[in-house]
Amino acid sequence: MNTPWLISLHGGHSGEFCDHAEGTLESVLSAAADAGFALYGVSEHAPRSAENLVYPEESAQGWTTDTLAEKFAAYGPEVRRLQDLFAGRLTVLRGFETEAAPSTWPAEMEALREKHDFDFIVGSVHHVNDIAIDWNLEMLELAADSCGGLEALALRYYDLVAEVVQTLEPEVVGHLDLIRKLAGPLGPVDTLPIRERVSQVLELVAETDGILDLNVSPVRRGHGPPYCAPWILAAARRLGIPFCFGDDSHGPDDVGAGIAEGRRYLLDHGIDSITTPDLRGGRRVISLR
Ligand SMILES: [Zn+2]
Ligand SMILES: [Zn+2]
Repeated sequence: MNTPWLISLHGGHSGEFCDHAEGTLESVLSAAADAGFALYGVSEHAPRSAENLVYPEESAQGWTTDTLAEKFAAYGPEVRRLQDLFAGRLTVLRGFETEAAPSTWPAEMEALREKHDFDFIVGSVHHVNDIAIDWNLEMLELAADSCGGLEALALRYYDLVAEVVQTLEPEVVGHLDLIRKLAGPLGPVDTLPIRERVSQVLELVAETDGILDLNVSPVRRGHGPPYCAPWILAAARRLGIPFCFGDDSHGPDDVGAGIAEGRRYLLDHGIDSITTPDLRGGRRVISLR
């Protein structure tokens, strides 16, 4: 039996295509089917196309940008095969999670979307000035230094998110306040100027009919409440922007982790439905009650 609100639009990273994930994509989708998911959106990371964006853990085992490109080229057909394989048991949406680096990203992301004819994309930003902001504190500090401080980094981060939203019009906007993941020791990332910038981003999300990723990975990783923080939920709600869950799974064991907490979190903040794209290019609204 499926649970109607058990839906994730951001996740399905697997060890098959991603160095920092576990298991095969088929094992991830089996876990989703077994857990009673109604719909599971798979959004593997887009390949990073500049050598300075290859993570140290990837380089250490000889991976290059070519390795990342080859893995993604194999991902496209495999997720399509699995969409067919699971049909009738689990609705699978085929997608990918964007990067906003290097500077050639808009053309690269558009090309990936067209080449594999994906059902949807998750528009995410993980790098500012080509430095990862969610990998470790040392890199976050480098990114902040490159911008002239943490607040300037956060403003630049949200500017990049705005660019992704305007340029790619993603169906789902990934973990909007990811900048807070590791920022704690460095200072606040919800100052008045930052909140004003986030409001501008939200207006663009509303204009482009985007869905915000209620990304529950902080629940399992011990990084506080889900993305988005309560002040963003309230602002999004005022603009009528819908949400949908993302378990951001990086292996079968993560599938569904934190979604029950995410449901409670939305309900506690006055949001009683989620919205998902469907396979026919439309959208469905599902009650959380
Ligand atoms: Zn990942
Ligand atoms: Zn991400």
